[in-house]
Amino acid sequence: SGIAATIDGRAVSARVIERIAFETRRLTDETGVVPGLAVVLVGDDPASQVYVGAKGRKADELGFVSVQHTLPADTSEEAMLRLVGELNDDPAIHGILVQLPLPAQIDKNRVIEAIRPEKDVDGFHPINVGRLASGAGEAMVPCTPAGCMILLRDTLGDDLGGLEAVVVGRSNLVGKPVAQLLLNENCTVTIAHSRTRDLPAVVRRADIVVAAVGRQEMVRGDWIKPGATVIDVGVNRIPAPEKGEGKTRLVGDVAFAEAAAVASAITPVPGGVGPMTIALLMANTLKAACLSLGRPSPK
Ligand code: NDP
Repeated sequence: SGIAATIDGRAVSARVIERIAFETRRLTDETGVVPGLAVVLVGDDPASQVYVGAKGRKADELGFVSVQHTLPADTSEEAMLRLVGELNDDPAIHGILVQLPLPAQIDKNRVIEAIRPEKDVDGFHPINVGRLASGAGEAMVPCTPAGCMILLRDTLGDDLGGLEAVVVGRSNLVGKPVAQLLLNENCTVTIAHSRTRDLPAVVRRADIVVAAVGRQEMVRGDWIKPGATVIDVGVNRIPAPEKGEGKTRLVGDVAFAEAAAVASAITPVPGGVGPMTIALLMANTLKAACLSLGRPSPK
């Protein structure tokens, strides 16, 4: 075994963005409609501020209508639901994203369920979760899982049928939807989690490993089947004293160097899955705009 190819999420996401820009011009030329995205941020969590800022900038770059609502940390659930209702009724807004986490006084599920499923560009509404699971209707697919699938198809080709896929993590945000998407592509899917017995042996079966755990470098090189494709969703900030006092760096859920010595392809952190997430949010916003006009969703 040699050194794995590094899957370049920045390059792939740039191609996705180009495609979205092209399809957006076409939509606007033919209908006059400009896709609109509203991002709602409650409180002043620094990580959330960074994510929301990046999402708004990308929407601006694409010429979308882009609005950000920043609410104080003590916002009531009622006020939050009122804002969601206004955005639901705003014809210029096709996509609504409520940045999570929300403060404790706001029930996240009530807010998600208040968003019109057609505008739920995060794909967290139970209607969209159900559509993804049943294959019925046009689901809004969660952005990070959809991004993982584009990276896999870019690496392995369009036919993933019969491959053994092991997803480590079962969150509603990443693990479950990515497992569903792999199943839809005819992979044989195993979902592992904190109660899985002998996780290394389970991961060793995988042609495709998706790690979405949130534990730095947990998946070791000797867990990886030679030639496997590894998608590392994890983002963990760790101290980096070598860069200077108080400095930090990002690492994934996979021990990159070890795994790269065994795998055939692997995503880096940063620069792998991360850039795909924002690109897919833009894709979902464009899709929502197209569907709202009865047009097919762009490929
Ligand atoms: P959650 O904390 O919601 O879920 C983590 C999952 O990992 C749970 O299912 C948990 O199992 C499982 N787990 C925890 N410890 C172990 C263990 N020792 N062995 C096996 N499984 C374990 O995280 P998210 O899914 O929201 O996110 C996962 C990671 O992905 C995080 O690092 C997050 O920052 C990153 N992320 C990156 C994104 C990007 O754009 N790149 C977007 C979203 C997330 P159990 O259910 O049993 O508790």
